[in-house]
Amino acid sequence: MKTLRFDVITIFPGMFETLFNESILKRAREQGVLDLRVHDLRDYTLDKHKRVDDYPFGGGAGMVMNVEPIANALEAVKKDRPNARTVLMSPAGSRFDQKKAWELSREEELIVVCGRYEGVDERVALHFVDEEISIGDYVLSGGEVPALAVIEAVSRLVPGVVGDENSLKEESFSSSLLEYPQYTRPRDFRGLKAPEVLVSGDPKKIREWQCAQALEKTSRRRPDLMKNLEGPG
Ligand code: SAM
Repeated sequence: MKTLRFDVITIFPGMFETLFNESILKRAREQGVLDLRVHDLRDYTLDKHKRVDDYPFGGGAGMVMNVEPIANALEAVKKDRPNARTVLMSPAGSRFDQKKAWELSREEELIVVCGRYEGVDERVALHFVDEEISIGDYVLSGGEVPALAVIEAVSRLVPGVVGDENSLKEESFSSSLLEYPQYTRPRDFRGLKAPEVLVSGDPKKIREWQCAQALEKTSRRRPDLMKNLEGPG
């Protein structure tokens, strides 16, 4: 059985345990499919006041995270796992998507560094990590929420985490399409009826309806995704 281990470097370690103490990630961790270790960046600073940031060279607003504690933390974590893939959360990184989530889910060791303040001394991105990842074109106050999003998206793709792995094949972005609409009981809620075809018991008709709905929904809401659909030949 494969285990994917995440090592997170952050100044807010408490933000991570909640995710792994609930739901499917809790079960996956108990079964040894996933492992999460959270490292407090302040344990790696040599500053007597445990500071991990300083004023930016050249002036400007806010504070910048120092390279030294991050480099120390990475070196400590990498001692036992020199091949771990190392990621810095950054709005300037390459955009995280489902394809990237699949790619990262094939790793065995991932180290995730969370920035704060005005950002991180550029030498971290240039010399101490393998890549920078952004979760979208907006700025959050820190890398913890982006890291949680990446960890959850990646974790559920690791074999053994999601109960029925067929659900991963059908869902949005797995085939360049958004997922078809889903309905459940009651069949009629205050006159709002679920489509008859879904309770027809005819698997071929249901499949055709789902494919047509996925195409229609994608072309209406995300026409950009339709470009990735394979054409004939
Ligand atoms: N001054 C930076 C800029 O303009 O690009 C923003 C720094 S942000 C306030 C602080 C930290 O939050 C970043 O170093 C990064 O770790 C994290 N962060 C914020 N938005 C993010 C995003 N969209 N994706 C990934 N990380 C993000």
